[in-house]
Amino acid sequence: MCKRKRIRPRVVLVTPPVYDFAFFDLFSRPYGLLRVGRWLADAGYEVCHVNALSPYDRRSVRLYGSPKRYRNGTGKTFRRSVEWPLGTVPVRRRYARYGIDPASFAELLARCLGPSEEKPARSRGAADLVLVGTGMTYWYPGVREAVRTVRSIDPAVPVVAGGVYATLLPEHCRRVCGVDHVVAGDVWPGFAEWLGSIGLPAPTAPPEERVLVRDSSWIDAGIVRLNRGCPFRCDYCASDALSGGFSAGAPDAAFSAACELADRHGIRDFAFYDDALLHRAETLFDDFVLRVIRADRNFRFHLPNAVHLCHIDRTRARLMHEGGFQEIRFGFESDDEMFHRSHGRKFASGQVGEAVESLRSAGFTSRSLTFYVLAGMPGQHLDEVIDAVMGAASFGVRVGVAAFSPVPLTALWEKCVAESIYPLAEEPLYHNNSLLPMRSGAFSLEAMTEVRRLAHELSPRDAD
Ligand code: SF4
Repeated sequence: MCKRKRIRPRVVLVTPPVYDFAFFDLFSRPYGLLRVGRWLADAGYEVCHVNALSPYDRRSVRLYGSPKRYRNGTGKTFRRSVEWPLGTVPVRRRYARYGIDPASFAELLARCLGPSEEKPARSRGAADLVLVGTGMTYWYPGVREAVRTVRSIDPAVPVVAGGVYATLLPEHCRRVCGVDHVVAGDVWPGFAEWLGSIGLPAPTAPPEERVLVRDSSWIDAGIVRLNRGCPFRCDYCASDALSGGFSAGAPDAAFSAACELADRHGIRDFAFYDDALLHRAETLFDDFVLRVIRADRNFRFHLPNAVHLCHIDRTRARLMHEGGFQEIRFGFESDDEMFHRSHGRKFASGQVGEAVESLRSAGFTSRSLTFYVLAGMPGQHLDEVIDAVMGAASFGVRVGVAAFSPVPLTALWEKCVAESIYPLAEEPLYHNNSLLPMRSGAFSLEAMTEVRRLAHELSPRDAD
């Protein structure tokens, strides 16, 4: 008797190119998209991923040269200057498309969307679904390019967008990027139900914190996420809108997910994508790090997101150092008590010195500690930002200046819309922090340059 081969539904995951004034790959990996990919693969889907941000695409290397990469998996990717789409560029910077060559992008998509032995063509293609991951709201031109390229290859395949931009501006994403469906927030349970409604198999349980392991995104670094969300509610931050508050993860599962990636790709470098990595650390973070130490995995951990210093004492600082943490970033934001009172109370000023002392005595050097100051907030004055830079530098750490970007669905959004020099509600390109959207007579583009120069001057340059 002849057995009929089971044909799996095929989903194509797409990481779009980025359009911006600057882009540095600081462990930016499509974690959320590849987590959904793993979830669908476990539910029986054939999964294919096209990553426009890969720095290793051969044709693009031939055309643009090899982007500079670093040993820890960070670095540059391909860049090509393009026109700023809204007339005269309001800042003295070049707008660019970051990502693999458009012809390569189209070719890779055509390969994933097209027929295969397992899956003969439906009309023009064989994929059942395309999922596009999205990031910053002002990166939507990359999402639109990805959707248009997909449509030019297979006009009939349903295209779904998820991720940050899709969650914060779902209507804009539908209307301007032309997707068929938007996943706002996590995929469970709404997206599973939607899959069922269009006749595709629906996973029966929420996704775990595991990613599609056989993907080239992981060849130089991995991502771990222990917990989701944050218990704080800073009025400028979208964490709550994106994750709906803090939910604890499972240290054993996070550790085994990291080992799975390390064993497959031989990597040692991992970045945490947590918003509140150290919250309830006694039962979560400490357990994870102790597993790493006991297993002697020799991992190196990086923190592209800041951590809360209020949770760092001598014991935890030693644990972090022994566990392979390479640097600590901290959102210092401002030296002004009023700032913290009105925007979010994530630490008390008295906690900072003690935490820094603990980190130093554990072995972290000045150069491995970075305090970020937030600049360009609504109504902010240059003096306040300068005080913040000097206050942060007084702890003998590196000082970074984070330019404020107005984010929809945050508590501060309406104020930003009312006070910005740009029509933020109409055009997400104006959310870009390179434009300093909340600049005013009290804090200008020149003030930003001055603040950055000061932060650079005051930051330690050599190892302790
Ligand atoms: S503490 Fe950090 S992650 Fe949490 S709400 Fe504030 S800015 Fe966002």
